[in-house]
Amino acid sequence: MTLTAGVDMGSTATKAVVLLDGRIAGTDARPTGSDPEQAGELALKTALDAASARIDDVERVVSTGYGRRTLGLADEAINEINANARGAVWLGSSLGRVRTIIDIGGQDSKVIALDPDGVIRDFAMNDKCAAGTGKFLEVIAQLLEVKVEDLGSLSAQSSRPAAIASTCVVFAQSEVVGLIARKVPRPDIVAGIHRAIASRVVNMARRVGVEPVVVFDGGPAKNEGLRAALEAELGLQVFVPARPQLVVALGAALVAADMVGGGGEEVG
Ligand code: ADP
Repeated sequence: MTLTAGVDMGSTATKAVVLLDGRIAGTDARPTGSDPEQAGELALKTALDAASARIDDVERVVSTGYGRRTLGLADEAINEINANARGAVWLGSSLGRVRTIIDIGGQDSKVIALDPDGVIRDFAMNDKCAAGTGKFLEVIAQLLEVKVEDLGSLSAQSSRPAAIASTCVVFAQSEVVGLIARKVPRPDIVAGIHRAIASRVVNMARRVGVEPVVVFDGGPAKNEGLRAALEAELGLQVFVPARPQLVVALGAALVAADMVGGGGEEVG
């Protein structure tokens, strides 16, 4: 029996995945808040509880993400680009070779280009500007007084997506205030925001080159409208795993399993 765990210490959310003999046995996701280490410990404990396991049973814990070095319980800390690639290739293996990963997080976005054999060829990252991140969606959801979880279904009702000219969140925010004042329907505003984010992320993706199979992960990948906007902008189908926010933590748990010789089976 091989039990390993991955903890993704993101800037916005902390996620944990426990793997038992290469199968997902427990997971957790919670806000990172002001104490990343505590969030990591709690996420790990909750995922272990779900797997009916204790920390002493775990052969290796690998942390990743922005706050990875703060988790004292971790045996190893790895870069989130590597963890993301490992998780996405594993989950996407039933679709063919994963060649592009688009990861939109709470405060950054990344594009990872892979060789046909799954080795990282190049990557691009935006962590300087909130446009193209989950933060942008949160700001807009707040302005429109809707939950971020409901943006996807709202945008599906749009018939004329609003044009958003600003490439900066602060200015886009004022633009949205203006659209609300002009009584532009909320679905059209949200669809316009999805387009604006997709356009920004796809510009970054084109710099590293986009090849199918494309995987879209990170919390905002739960937003179906954003996935549709990315597909329209790319002119390609985009695959979203069942639990896109957990892909990086899963990748870390898989790397932990590789280290102890209990690598996960390919899915599908
Ligand atoms: P990070 O790893 O950078 O902390 P995540 O990949 O965990 O970020 O994503 C966090 C973001 O996911 C938040 O900004 C939040 O808005 C978004 N998010 C979380 N759940 C949902 C959902 N159900 N629908 C849309 N967006 C979501």
